[in-house]
Amino acid sequence: MAVSGRKKGPVSPAVAGPVAVYPGSFDPITNGHLDIVKRALAVFPRVVLAVAFNPNKDSALFTAEERVATIREALVEFGDRIEVDTFSGLLVDYARRIEAAVVVRGLRAVSDFEYEFQMTMMNRHLAPAIETVFLMAGAQYFYTSSRLVKEVALFGGDVRAHVPPAVRRRLAAKLGTQTGRGRKRR
Ligand code: ADP
Repeated sequence: MAVSGRKKGPVSPAVAGPVAVYPGSFDPITNGHLDIVKRALAVFPRVVLAVAFNPNKDSALFTAEERVATIREALVEFGDRIEVDTFSGLLVDYARRIEAAVVVRGLRAVSDFEYEFQMTMMNRHLAPAIETVFLMAGAQYFYTSSRLVKEVALFGGDVRAHVPPAVRRRLAAKLGTQTGRGRKRR
């Protein structure tokens, strides 16, 4: 798997077809995100999972480096058709830089729609040649979100169904809580 840090140029052209970029905060990556990655790989030969970060003011729980390390661990089974990278600034500028023709986003419930719709329209305005494609995760992930996972983990709740083991471990370390297996029964 490719490592974060590649700054310009297209991803390896070994497999023909459009490169898709799957951008997000991934703070942290959840099983819902992983489900979208799986579906994206069924459609596109190469997917770049791009961790968005703000170098000046990032309110994320995990640093961009921590998120990349976690994602790389969680994605081991997906092989080298998926790359992990980071970007700041405009998504369309990043997509152009890596020569991605498609942006992949995930949809859960209707509540995601308005935000995603606005963002897609703005990106289309900025870069008409880049198409956004929406994929829906499996129904079991419809209520999985990074925000809720963090809230539940903060209070020691069981998040095993929602995040891969790599995330559970890092959440526990970061928050100083047990987040599932090994938790003492009361
Ligand atoms: P952002 O901060 O850009 O919304 P996220 O990491 O929260 O980044 O999400 C990245 C993308 O993955 C978004 O398109 C979001 O709607 C989608 N996504 C997040 N969780 C799920 C899920 N459980 N099922 C399907 N899509 C999801």
